[in-house]
Amino acid sequence: MLKVFLATGNKNKIIEMKDIIEKLNLNIKLVSINDGIVIPEVIEDGKTFEENSQKKAIEIAKFLNMITISDDSGLCVDALNGEPGIYSARFAGENATTEDNNKKLIESLKGISNRKAKFICVISLAKPNGEYFSFRGEVNGDILEEERGENGFGYDPFFYLSKYNKTFAEMPEIKKEISHRAIALEKLSKEIEKILG
Ligand code: IMP
Repeated sequence: MLKVFLATGNKNKIIEMKDIIEKLNLNIKLVSINDGIVIPEVIEDGKTFEENSQKKAIEIAKFLNMITISDDSGLCVDALNGEPGIYSARFAGENATTEDNNKKLIESLKGISNRKAKFICVISLAKPNGEYFSFRGEVNGDILEEERGENGFGYDPFFYLSKYNKTFAEMPEIKKEISHRAIALEKLSKEIEKILG
C-alpha cells in the first residue's frame, strides 16, 4: 500500500482525517508525526486557505520525498467579515489556546443577531516533484452563545447545525460524514486514482 504523509501537527485533525480516509477506502497508508517522522515547521504566510495548504503539502513532500496531504482550515463568520478565517488558530494572538480563541469569538459576537458562519477546509496533495492538487470543502452553521458538547476540538462546541439540532462537539461521528474536512477529502478520493496513476 502506498505510504502518504499527513502534514499537520494538529493531533485532532490527524485522528479525524485518518478515520475519514479509512471510511473512504482509499488504497493508501497514512503516516504522520505520530509515527515519529520529524518535519520542519512551514510558515503559513499565504493569503488564502489554498495558498497555505499548498505550501505545507509541497514543502513537506519535497523534504520527505513522499507524497504528502495537508489540511488548512478555519472558521469564517459572516458578521465578522469572514474572520477569523485563515487566522483561526491564532485569532486571540500568536500563542492563543483554544479557550482564548473561543472566548474572543463569543465576545466579538456579543449582541449580534447574525450568527451565520462556515467552516472551510482545503486539502492539498503534493508529489515530491512539486505537482499538487487541491480540494475545498465548506459547511454552514451558526455560532452559539454558549458551548455544547464534549467532543471535537477548536470551535466545535460553538458550531451549531440546525438540521441536527447539535454542535459538531455533540456529534463526532456525524461530523466525520458531513464536515468541511470530510467534503474536501471525498473530493480528493474521487480523483486520487487518476492523480497517483
Ligand atoms: P490550521 O492548523 O492553521 O489549519 O488551523 C485551523 C484552526 O481552525 C484550528 O486550530 C481550529 O481553531 C480551527 N478549525 C479548523 N477545522 C476545525 C474543525 O473541524 N473544528 C473546529 N475548529 C476547526
